Amino acid sequence: MQITSLVLRSYRNYAELHLAFDAGVQIFLGANAQGKTNIIEALYYAAFGRSHRTSSDAELVRVGADEAHIGLSFLRHDVPSELSFTFARGARRRIERGGENLRQRDLVGILPMVLFSPEDLFLVKGAPALRRRYLDAELSQASPAYYGELLRYTHILRQRNAVLKDIRERLASPDELLPWDVQIAKSAAYITARRIAATEQLSALSAHVQEVIAAGETLSISYEIAHAPEGLTAGKESMTKQLELWYNEMFKEMRARDIARAATGVGPHLDDLVLVTAGMNLRSYGSQGQQRTGALALKLAELFYLRENVGEAPILLLDDVMSELDADRRAALLSFISSEKIQTFITATDAAYFPSERMGTYRYVEAGKIQER
Ligand code: ATP
Ligand code: MG
Repeated sequence: MQITSLVLRSYRNYAELHLAFDAGVQIFLGANAQGKTNIIEALYYAAFGRSHRTSSDAELVRVGADEAHIGLSFLRHDVPSELSFTFARGARRRIERGGENLRQRDLVGILPMVLFSPEDLFLVKGAPALRRRYLDAELSQASPAYYGELLRYTHILRQRNAVLKDIRERLASPDELLPWDVQIAKSAAYITARRIAATEQLSALSAHVQEVIAAGETLSISYEIAHAPEGLTAGKESMTKQLELWYNEMFKEMRARDIARAATGVGPHLDDLVLVTAGMNLRSYGSQGQQRTGALALKLAELFYLRENVGEAPILLLDDVMSELDADRRAALLSFISSEKIQTFITATDAAYFPSERMGTYRYVEAGKIQER
């Protein structure tokens, strides 16, 4: 995977920008508030169809302009491709691939990418939603079918919760839940089974990760189903079927409670990942340093996972994380990136975080202007 060019027009603090990239490491240096993260954000937008910082596309349009544009060329398995995004305040966003309109649900997975930013340092100690999003990002990029089912699940969940609320307020009868229960159990089972399989694969990859960052003990990752009895995940062959039966029972069992709360009390929207290193739950007992290393390990595991499942290394974005890692980890990470030839976009405020010999293309960012040096 290689991004070959980026064009920005009226995007954030960029009036007009044209950059071309080789396959190597792309380093963006500059003081605070100059537009480094804006570049990372634009690349992320091209892969996921949304910003990692805001859910409002209007914020991305340059102050004083009406319409913003991101254009991107890339190679996937050496085949050239182009994506373009246009958004105007108050108008519908347009995505095109090679000049043809593209839907959001068909975008994810076209340009596999892993972002590691300061927010990800909370991946280990933060709320379970962060870890679910982490898992969903890699599954969705590796499998369009998974992403489609995830969107479907989210939709069914919203509908079911609306019916629960209506029942609570006596606007609907409890029978109206039945068709939703059947659908949500099926969808929940599909998602949970795939998440379990992905977690096993990630855990197996963490030995690789350990070699890269020399983190002492390897990280073991397991999937925790909310309210699940022990042993549910034991029989592997018919995992999806088994889960569907179990979910059906649970939805029945929890019905009164669900109605009272107008919320669905079981399902993959409540599950979590459990991270264990040296026999210790990292979230509860890890030191701050161990939790940071754990977050980096998860991100690298994601990179290996995508490489294994897509057949090519994803693009790696490292926004402002050099300053967050200790010198040894930083050096190990940089030497791994260079030796594996993973196209990586790195931002930092200080060139001192990089080895003295040049390891890629250096660009200086100042007030929405970029100079190669
Ligand atoms: P730091 O080192 O602090 O992370 P950075 O170089 O990553 O800084 P960015 O977040 O990329 O900074 O850019 C921030 C700059 O972009 C700010 O000066 C902000 O005012 C400007 N900016 C953000 N959105 C817009 C917009 N819609 N129009 C014009 N300027 C914008
Ligand atoms: Mg920044």
